[in-house]
Amino acid sequence: MTCDVCGHEMRRVPTADSRVKEAWVCPWCYAWTELGAHPGLVGRSWYEPVHMRWERADAAELPTGVSHAYGYFGATLCGIQQEGVVTSPYPWFPDSDDACPGCREAAIVIDGRWPVDVRGEKRERLRPTPPAGADWPPF
Ligand SMILES: [Zn+2]
Ligand SMILES: [Zn+2]
Repeated sequence: MTCDVCGHEMRRVPTADSRVKEAWVCPWCYAWTELGAHPGLVGRSWYEPVHMRWERADAAELPTGVSHAYGYFGATLCGIQQEGVVTSPYPWFPDSDDACPGCREAAIVIDGRWPVDVRGEKRERLRPTPPAGADWPPF
């Protein structure tokens, strides 16, 4: 699966939503794609600014007092990979006093990877052409 935002290869991630058959996340711009939630439709993330985009990471082992953003691949956005790092139902705010500086930095870098022309509600840009033999979903 190729990311329709930046053209990098996406990685398949586990999903907690039983209606979703496949969930993919781009390790470069962190756009996501979901298959199976609605028959015949492909769910894709849209652009969200840094302060609206991330959820707090949750894990028993994480030190309290610092809020990390969840970075999808079983890790925080700043790269803490531990057993049991999951997303929480709470949003993560880069501007809050307890926000992890590493997560904030990563969030800003990722934000900069979204081309300006895909930031509207409707993406104006054509999808990048998939490489030959790429595993595209049936549209
Ligand atoms: Zn991407
Ligand atoms: Zn962090």
